[in-house]
Amino acid sequence: MPMEGLTICAVLECTAPVGKYNNLCDDHRLPGAILRMGDSTVVITAWYAEDGDECGIILLNEWAFGAHFSGAKGFEEKLRNQGFVNIRLLCTPEEIDAARPPTSGKKAGSWSGPWRTQYAWENGADQPDDSSETRPTPAQTTE
Ligand SMILES: [Zn+2]
Repeated sequence: MPMEGLTICAVLECTAPVGKYNNLCDDHRLPGAILRMGDSTVVITAWYAEDGDECGIILLNEWAFGAHFSGAKGFEEKLRNQGFVNIRLLCTPEEIDAARPPTSGKKAGSWSGPWRTQYAWENGADQPDDSSETRPTPAQTTE
């Protein structure tokens, strides 16, 4: 079953019913890996993307792209705005394997993994880190 209590598609403007394991309706859903969390399930989608000579796989659960990006198209657009190119959804484990560096002829991007709201190269994110002075030091009580 989808996330607890969810009966309609996570895409805000959509009121179609969700599927057995999905948080999205038939029209909005995408292939991905089903992740079980207690009684809830969510489908994790994998997206191949490139940035310069790097490539990687970005993961996002369907609920997130439904609720935040009104579906896959919106998420793809967001990735493009973040500077990624050659973005495509990976539908099968075979496709994911084929997209892994060095198979794809590119270097593995350090940004590969769960989707981030901001990447290092985006405005503001590459400012010098001046938080070191205020950062609390871990308590060293073990002796
Ligand atoms: Zn929908």
